[in-house]
Amino acid sequence: MQTRSPRRLPLQRYVAGVLGGDRMVLARAITVVESTLPSDGELAARLLDALLPHTGHALRVGITGVPGVGKSTFIDALGMHLIRDRGENLAVLSVDPSSAISGGSILGDKTRMERLAVEERAFIRPSPAQGHLGGVARRTRETMLLCEAAGYCNILVETVGVGQSETAVRSMTDFFLLLMLSGAGDELQGMKRGIIEMLDGMAINKADGDNQPKAERARAEYAGALHLFPASADGWTPRVLTCSSTGGTGIAEIWRMVLAHRELLEGNGFLARLRNLQALQWMNELTALGLEELFRRNRAVGERLPLLRDQVHRGRVTPFAASRELLALFQRQPAIEESPTDDESPASDESPANDESPASEKSRKETL
Ligand code: GDP
Repeated sequence: MQTRSPRRLPLQRYVAGVLGGDRMVLARAITVVESTLPSDGELAARLLDALLPHTGHALRVGITGVPGVGKSTFIDALGMHLIRDRGENLAVLSVDPSSAISGGSILGDKTRMERLAVEERAFIRPSPAQGHLGGVARRTRETMLLCEAAGYCNILVETVGVGQSETAVRSMTDFFLLLMLSGAGDELQGMKRGIIEMLDGMAINKADGDNQPKAERARAEYAGALHLFPASADGWTPRVLTCSSTGGTGIAEIWRMVLAHRELLEGNGFLARLRNLQALQWMNELTALGLEELFRRNRAVGERLPLLRDQVHRGRVTPFAASRELLALFQRQPAIEESPTDDESPASDESPANDESPASEKSRKETL
């Protein structure tokens, strides 16, 4: 398949623009790292290499919770707190691989953070539109690094409260916050153990009006439940707080918790250890994704795959035998098809340089 060549800047223009905090160039640089065009791979790698020394200083916070819990309202409120009360800036990114399955994203394409969307000191980038979780997570991680190089000192990475996306976000952030609701019944039973082990803090949102006493009760219950889990090696005990994102209460306390966590981990060396582990994880992810990409573009595999799929589907060949055959073909003949992969189209490249453009593990506690 012939693909059009999008307009690209010379590497140095991207580097200088990003380091200079130019939002237009930053958005275009993100388009390059999000691109699935083989011709952009080399440029993206050189860009990241050049910018990596300028990253690492930001506070990286992952935020999760089920749809409707108030994530975007919370991020809007927190962002305004960071900008107005603390004089800082922030970038908001998201990991939402649901669009690959459903064709629509759970986090949604509409402008979800109304106040932040018009703030100069906020940069909002929706989840990359295409691809499976590994690809979406990789691009979000790299986008985060570009934002750090552009001078954003707080990075909020939002994810939907489903599936594996939490693990992916946990593996790229320093602090993981779960938003919850009170009064929904069997909350404690419903909480996935895996998520509890990942989190550093929990906030019961919508603690306003009639809901306030219920939120306080839920806070006490969750705090008690969290104490039943073994202490984390990094010395941090997850805290449970309440907030009202619409009313703006409790937001500053939640940020103080994030800062206290940062101070502790910086002091005891665990932040550096966490970042080193994440770098290794990143390398592993990149290698796995690269291998998968090579496999999918392999000519011999591509020729054999439709027949094998059909035979496995009909029960004529076992999945085991089919996969062994495909891997053997791949090893024997590493020829590559020069076309993009079927689930990752290049169509989104070089969209307008606009932050709002739709163009677009393991738990720390176990590993440290
Ligand atoms: P998301 O799907 O998790 O991003 O949730 P949204 O931020 O879109 O919020 C879902 C609904 O809950 C919206 O109607 C919000 O106005 C409402 N909401 C969010 N935070 C609060 C809160 O603190 N208090 C109340 N009363 N409503 C809230």
